[in-house]
Amino acid sequence: MLNITDQQLIKKGSYINGRWLTSAEQIAITNPADGCIIASVANAGIVETEQAVVAAKAALAVWSAKSASERAGILRNWFNLIMQHQDDLAAILTQEQGKPLAEAKGEVAYGAAFIEWFAEEGKRVYGDTIPAPSADKRIIVIKQPVGVVASITPWNFPNAMIARKAAAALAAGCTFVVRPAIQTPLSALAMAELAERAGIPAGVFNVVVGSEAKAMGEVLTMHPDVAKFTFTGSTVVGKSLISQCAHGVKKVSMELGGNAPFIVFDDADIDAAVQGAMASKYRNAGQTCVCTNRIFVQNKVLAQFSEKFVAAVKELAIGNGLTAGVNIGPMISAEAVKNVDQLVQKSVGQGAKVVLGGKQDAAGANFYQPTVLTNVTNSMAIAGNEIFGPVSPIIAFSEEAEVIAMANDTEYGLAAYFYARDIGRIWRVAEGLEYGMVGINEGMISNSAAPFGGVKQSGNGREGSKYGLDDYLEIKYLCMGGLDK
Ligand code: ADP
Repeated sequence: MLNITDQQLIKKGSYINGRWLTSAEQIAITNPADGCIIASVANAGIVETEQAVVAAKAALAVWSAKSASERAGILRNWFNLIMQHQDDLAAILTQEQGKPLAEAKGEVAYGAAFIEWFAEEGKRVYGDTIPAPSADKRIIVIKQPVGVVASITPWNFPNAMIARKAAAALAAGCTFVVRPAIQTPLSALAMAELAERAGIPAGVFNVVVGSEAKAMGEVLTMHPDVAKFTFTGSTVVGKSLISQCAHGVKKVSMELGGNAPFIVFDDADIDAAVQGAMASKYRNAGQTCVCTNRIFVQNKVLAQFSEKFVAAVKELAIGNGLTAGVNIGPMISAEAVKNVDQLVQKSVGQGAKVVLGGKQDAAGANFYQPTVLTNVTNSMAIAGNEIFGPVSPIIAFSEEAEVIAMANDTEYGLAAYFYARDIGRIWRVAEGLEYGMVGINEGMISNSAAPFGGVKQSGNGREGSKYGLDDYLEIKYLCMGGLDK
């Protein structure tokens, strides 16, 4: 039993059309810190996923007809309730996902901020009038909600990846169905409970929890009532979901993998660079798509940066995320630990040197030691793959052009970071990096006012900011003629 104040936030199954599903077959949800079962939920499948889509379609007329201001009021209620229950939501999140409680609280506030932000931005869905080529015509552009939005979200941000999508969708007047990752459904269901209390009408926000990812994904990408599909997860799964969406020519947004470079130039503030690298690398035990994946350091400052960075990494406390002072929680599974370790060992075989960590931690099967590798080259396995774990490979470089080329030498293009003070260099590097987001002297870049998203195989579409609403709106052109009669 989860130890939280408001036990009503712990739900037993999917939320479809304002009703809670309870069925015979149960799935156990475990705490990755110790493997203990913390809850069980009813296993929904294809039928329930279809019911959720149909309910979202039925709810569309009423929700989209509300004024933006009415929707904003309801979304504001949702935001307020989430913040009022921040501690409980964070405790649920840490226990199903593993991240330290302080990070979980941060995630809840970060996700809620998108709801607050889009609630207001929904009031600014402006159209346009365009001078027409002849006097008897007028050209008007209006924007309308896309329709039913279906989504699949990952386990690394069980709250915020849903909030980021649902906030924009609901503010735009769309209705929403999400299938959260089966490792972390409790946060999603708690959000649904608060959505209901906030006054979000039945059918507008639906959560389907089930273990059959592929079959449920087929419904969410191919059901005729779905107008748009949005996904956060791996590039490999994203590609197959895009191809499924192609059958119905669905509108698609994708937040996929990353291989973020973190570049420290010789004119950087080294202490600030160390701090930025720590924040962007070790958050969530390295399990975010914007986590630093490769640290490039210019030769002149290599020794200085490495020494300070290793000292900072040594300070990280590993353990159960509920324990005060812990910075590194468990990874999501023993398999994830194995994958990270294989990458580390392969790189060691290729000539990398383990300066710190380098193996599973005594804290348990799902824990991996915060690790620093030196003598790494950009062609090693650890540099070419998304690590998704607490491992920092340090790669030396000498020239600006060389490091830009190395940073861009990946199919990914989500986040990049660099530290420098020379203004000419800052512009050259910022413009030269083939990434959707660039942190300049900053390791934490994501917030609700900014457009989050990638280029290349990291995806398309943006979440957050005024641009984020466009993904949930269709442009309609009205040509008004016969005005000269
Ligand atoms: P990761 O687990 O590394 O975050 P995945 O892309 O494997 O990345 O998973 C992201 C989400 O996609 C999860 O909710 C998962 O259950 C779901 N998923 C995985 N494979 C499929 C698939 N073939 N069809 C639909 N959903 C899938």
